[in-house]
Amino acid sequence: MRKAEKEKLRKLLLEKKKAIIEEMSHTMKQSIQQTIRDSSGDISSYSYHMADQGTDAMERELSFMFASKSGRFLYHIEEALRRIDSKEFGKCDKCGKDINPERLEAVPHARLCINCKSAEEDAARGKK
Ligand SMILES: [Zn+2]
Repeated sequence: MRKAEKEKLRKLLLEKKKAIIEEMSHTMKQSIQQTIRDSSGDISSYSYHMADQGTDAMERELSFMFASKSGRFLYHIEEALRRIDSKEFGKCDKCGKDINPERLEAVPHARLCINCKSAEEDAARGKK
C-alpha cells in the first residue's frame, strides 16, 4: 500500500474515532444527567465537571461502554490504527489478498476482502 493511501486511511480512522467518542460521550452525559435528575431532582455541578474533562480522561471514562455497539466499533477502529503500520494492514485476514482500496475507504477497519466477507455473511445466515 502506498504511503499517501495509508495516510488517507489513517485520517479517516481518526475522524471516525473522534465522531464515535463524541457520540458516546454525549450519550454518557445524558445518562449521567438523567441519573442525577432521578436522584436529586436537579442537575448538580457534577455533569458540568464531566463535560470539562479532557478527551483522554473521557476516553478512560468511556472504556466501560466497550460492550455497546459503538464501543465495539471503536475497538475495531483502534485495532485498525494499531495495524495500519504493519504489513498485514489492507490484506484480507482469510485469503491474504489485498483488500479493494474502495472498500477500505468505505470501511477503513475492514479485515476481510469483499469475497471473504460475503462468504462469512452467507455462513452466518446459514446458521440461523
Ligand atoms: Zn479474502
